[in-house]
Amino acid sequence: MGAAFWTAPAETYAGSLPDRTDILVIGGGIAGTSLMHHLARRRFSAVLVESEHIAFGASGRNAGFLLAGVADCYAEAVRIFGREKAREVWHITDENHDRMIEAVAGTDVGHRRLGSATFASGEEERARLEESAQLLHDDGFEARWDGTRLLNPRDGEINPAAMVGALAGRLKSGAIREGVRITSIDPAGEEVTVRAGESKCRAGVVILATNGYTSLLLPEVKIQPIRAQMLASGPLSRSVCDLPTYSHFGYRYWRQLVSGEVLIGGWRDTSMESEVGYDDQPTDQIQEHLDRKLGEMDGRAEVTHRWAGIMGFTETGLPLAGPVEGMRNVYACAGFNGHGMGFAFMTAMKLVEMI
Ligand SMILES: Cc1cc2nc3c(=O)[nH]c(=O)nc-3n(C[C@H](O)[C@H](O)[C@H](O)COP(=O)(O)OP(=O)(O)OC[C@H]3O[C@@H](n4cnc5c(N)ncnc54)[C@H](O)[C@@H]3O)c2cc1C
Repeated sequence: MGAAFWTAPAETYAGSLPDRTDILVIGGGIAGTSLMHHLARRRFSAVLVESEHIAFGASGRNAGFLLAGVADCYAEAVRIFGREKAREVWHITDENHDRMIEAVAGTDVGHRRLGSATFASGEEERARLEESAQLLHDDGFEARWDGTRLLNPRDGEINPAAMVGALAGRLKSGAIREGVRITSIDPAGEEVTVRAGESKCRAGVVILATNGYTSLLLPEVKIQPIRAQMLASGPLSRSVCDLPTYSHFGYRYWRQLVSGEVLIGGWRDTSMESEVGYDDQPTDQIQEHLDRKLGEMDGRAEVTHRWAGIMGFTETGLPLAGPVEGMRNVYACAGFNGHGMGFAFMTAMKLVEMI
């Protein structure tokens, strides 16, 4: 217990901080490996450093939902961002799904695209979901309300650790260096000096792909670390859930794998304050709720894994992709607000285009 359900990618990339590189990417999750993918396609010379191993962070610990949009439903997103921006966000995340899967074609990343379902926790959410279905339809998306839940047939699911492993596995030898923890970033003149303990690297450009951990390195980047918790059951012989499912305004979610295991996560809405910070251990307080949900789905199911990961939340509710203020040649590609599998591939692409 305490370890995620997903097995870490088999390939390992031991290495050290290079003395020099054109571009240094910090963080080996879905953002870092997506950045490396896009940089390699444009023939940039880049190195990725990761303090532990690739997919060590949230990218190896999440539910693997590939959902369009942000955690808020479409109607709420329209209210927060405006109609045009909400539509753009949904289009980008839809494209993220297509392009990310295309990028690893030929590798099994557990991808299925059967859609997703969102249940209402009560009358208020039901009204918002019904409104979302109408707005989505009017804006040309396939989503619909079926009387009890909002269905989005273009959503899907993956094994997130396998996805990170597949992107990493396509990079050239030496491009990833695991076991390198960056301790300081100091832009000076045309280059950036980056240190990992006693080692030093001069980089033309540095990109932070450290998501929930970013403010440990650069407190001036406003990303709040928030914990999310999950459990997994052993394989069940019967189907207890037909689609990756979301509920309670995105705070609660579950899915069943083809192999029968049930993954349940969230319930942060029952204890918001205790879930802020960098502690990545599961707690009894939240796990009891996940146990109760599993019991409702199958009274005899046994829990095999309990774990937690750190997400990164921004003030705007949208990812940060751009220069870090006051730090020449330092960029951030982080702050995915609990939806990095749905956003990071395209966010990384846009950042690389910007650079
Ligand atoms: C339980 C849970 C469930 C979730 N479910 C979903 C879901 O179903 N769908 C979805 O889209 N999103 C989900 N998310 C969110 C998603 O996992 C994240 O948004 C996404 O993984 C962020 O990816 P990342 O690469 O930006 O960050 P991470 O995967 O956290 O990677 C950051 C990496 O940076 C490394 N690092 C940090 N500091 C340093 C340093 N100083 N030097 C070197 N390396 C460093 C870390 O070790 C880490 O590996 C979930 C998150 C959690 C925790």
